[in-house]
Amino acid sequence: MTQVKAYAAHQADKPLSPYQIERREPGPFDVEIEILYCGVCHSDIHTARNEWNGTMYPVVPGHEIVGKVTRIGSGVTQHKVGDTVGVGVFVDSCGHCHSCEQDLEQYCENGHSQTYNSFLQDKKTITYGGYSTHIVVTEKFVLKVSDSLPLEGVAPLLCAGITTYSPLRYWKVKKGDKVGVVGLGGLGHMAVKLASAMGAEVTMLSRSPQKAKDAERLGAQHFALTTEKKTMKKLKNTFDLIIDTVSGQHNYNDYLALLKVDGTMVVLGAPPEPEKVSASSLIRGRKRLAGSLVGGIKETQEMLDFCAEHNIVSDVEVIPIDQINEAYERTMKGDVLYRFVIDMASLKQMT
Ligand code: NAP
Ligand code: ZN
Repeated sequence: MTQVKAYAAHQADKPLSPYQIERREPGPFDVEIEILYCGVCHSDIHTARNEWNGTMYPVVPGHEIVGKVTRIGSGVTQHKVGDTVGVGVFVDSCGHCHSCEQDLEQYCENGHSQTYNSFLQDKKTITYGGYSTHIVVTEKFVLKVSDSLPLEGVAPLLCAGITTYSPLRYWKVKKGDKVGVVGLGGLGHMAVKLASAMGAEVTMLSRSPQKAKDAERLGAQHFALTTEKKTMKKLKNTFDLIIDTVSGQHNYNDYLALLKVDGTMVVLGAPPEPEKVSASSLIRGRKRLAGSLVGGIKETQEMLDFCAEHNIVSDVEVIPIDQINEAYERTMKGDVLYRFVIDMASLKQMT
C-alpha cells in the first residue's frame, strides 16, 4: 500500500478538505498513474453533497483523470511507464455478462466499479477518485491519450466527452440532423462541439442569455433562451434529437414538445428529484424519452481518437485544489466556462 494525498468530502454540508488515502501496490495487470489533471463534474457535487443518497464518507470524487504511467504490473501489455493515459467514470466490471461482452461495461449486469464512491469487483474495497496524486487501475480500464492536445483540456473528455459522444453515435447523428442541447455546462459544451463536428445543425437551449456568444463559438448555429415562452413555442416540432444535460429540476414535457415526430430526447443530467412526464408528451408524435450512461471503454477510446483527429478539447478553467469548494459553488450557479479542472501539482506541493 502507498499513502497518497487526496481531497475528500467528509459530510454532505461541509467543504472538501485534505485527506490521505491508501492506493494498492500495482498487481500483475495494474497500472499506477501519477494524476496531472482531474476535471470537476457535476456528479462529483451531487455525490459529495449526498444528493443521490448512498454517499460513503469520506468520499474522494473525480472521474475525469489524465496522468502519466509511473509503474506497471508484470502482465501489463497495453501501457508502459511514461505513457500519457486517462481514467474515466469506472475502473472495472465483471467482464463476462451480456453487456460487458458487447463493450458496454457501463451497463455491467453484475455492477461495474465506479471510480469513486463504489466497490471494486471484490464488492468490499471502496474506490477513491481523481482528487488525489496517484491512482492504480486495472489496465483494461486505462485509456490512451494523445500528447498532441493540451492535457488539461483532455481530462473532461473522460466523462463529459464520452457521455455526450455515446448517445450522439447511438442515435446516429449525421450531417444536417437538427440537434438541441439543453444546458450549457460541462456536458452541454462538449455535446455542442461533438454534434457540430459530426455535421449536425445544433441549437443551444439555455436559461442563461450571457452564454449566447459562447454557444456560437463552440459550434452551435442557433441559441434559444428557454425562459422565453414565445421562443419555446416557435421551436415546437424542430429537433430530431435533444440531449438534455441539465443538473437541476426542470420540466421534461417542455422539451419533448420541441421534438419532431419520431424524435428522441436523451436524458443525461440526473436531477436529484424525479420529474413528471405526461403520456401525451410522448403519444402526440410517437416520441421517445431515453437515457444514457457515460460510454464503454472501447467507445471512450474511439471518442478520444475522434477528438484528437478533430482537435477537440474541453474549454477549461484550471484551478489549484484549494479552490475546489469555490469551484463547486460557482458550478451550482452555472458560472463555469465550461469545466473546472484541478491542476494536481497543487496537491502534490501541499505540505
Ligand atoms: P454543469 O456543468 O453544472 O452544467 C449543467 C447546466 O445545466 C448548467 O450550466 C445550466 O446551463 C443548466 N442548469 C442547471 N440547473 C438548471 C435548472 N434547474 N434548470 C435549467 N437548467 C439548469 O453540470 P455537468 O457536469 O455538465 O453535468 C450535468 C448533469 O449530468 C449532472 O446532473 C451530472 O450528474 C449528470 N451527468 C450524467 C452522466 C451520465 O452518464 N448520464 C455523466 C456525467 C454527468 P444553462 O445556464 O445553459 O441553462
Ligand atoms: Zn462525470
